[in-house]
Amino acid sequence: MGKFVVYNYDWISFPDAVKYRKLGASLAEQLGAIGALIRSVTPFSGDVPHTGCLSYDNNTNSLPKIPSASITVEDAELFGRLAARGVNITVSLSMEARIDGSDGMSRNTVSEITGSTKPDEIVLVTGQLDSWDVGQGAMDNGGAAFIAWRALSVIKKLGLRPKRTVRSVLWTGEEMGYYGVKQYSQKHINELNKISVAMESVSGTFKPTGLTYRGQNTTAKCILNEILQSMKPINATQLLIDDNIDGALDIRYLMEKDIPGLSLDTPNDQYYRYHHSIGDTMQVLNTRELDLCTAVWTAIVYVLATIDDQLPR
Ligand SMILES: [Zn+2]
Repeated sequence: MGKFVVYNYDWISFPDAVKYRKLGASLAEQLGAIGALIRSVTPFSGDVPHTGCLSYDNNTNSLPKIPSASITVEDAELFGRLAARGVNITVSLSMEARIDGSDGMSRNTVSEITGSTKPDEIVLVTGQLDSWDVGQGAMDNGGAAFIAWRALSVIKKLGLRPKRTVRSVLWTGEEMGYYGVKQYSQKHINELNKISVAMESVSGTFKPTGLTYRGQNTTAKCILNEILQSMKPINATQLLIDDNIDGALDIRYLMEKDIPGLSLDTPNDQYYRYHHSIGDTMQVLNTRELDLCTAVWTAIVYVLATIDDQLPR
């Protein structure tokens, strides 16, 4: 017997809400709770829980690591109403999730087209191959994995040969802690200065609007703006600039090594409806939008791998 802490909050944004999931267990621990129940991190609920990772605070190492579970928005609000009425709520929690300390072997999935005249220079196009177990992971991050692989396959089908090597890397172990990209940035440390640019898609493969450039170089901005002009027929010409390294997810570990980063932009206001839930299925994806994302990725990969100079840093 003991007490649970239930986190019920108003949705403002993902970054605001996700802090309850990530930090809620450790904060509840400090209050002497035996478990934490977290309102699912979503602006919309179909009465399904949304899962995700959490981290335990190292400063509370002396305290037992208590379990933390997602509950639906509906249940969080029910708890809120009952508590406001002074009702004594009884909960029994049964969970099987655990980290048993024996990491298994997993690998990134890599494919590439070797460059014709500058084979040692590389344009990296990436997505994550793993997903949470509750849904199919079609949106997070199957769509991104698909377009990162498909970009190379379209270049090949068109009989094009870029000057630089184009390499598609589908990261493993992203959801559990970016294992694949962290390993990659260490194991490929000797070629990091030859990676021209690292591209990622992490917020959905809906109808593309353009790119976010994660850097500060003025010439690079001009080059990217010029490349995006070719996306006029599909209205995907927008170039956003965000030089805050934390804005990137997977490629952040490459950007720390001074590699310029690019993210695909799509209107993702629907993203967190499905994120990390049983609702993340193939039905969320739209074949036409996926084709448009593939087209944008293919064109950008090809041009960046074929222009005379590497994208300036
Ligand atoms: Zn995820």
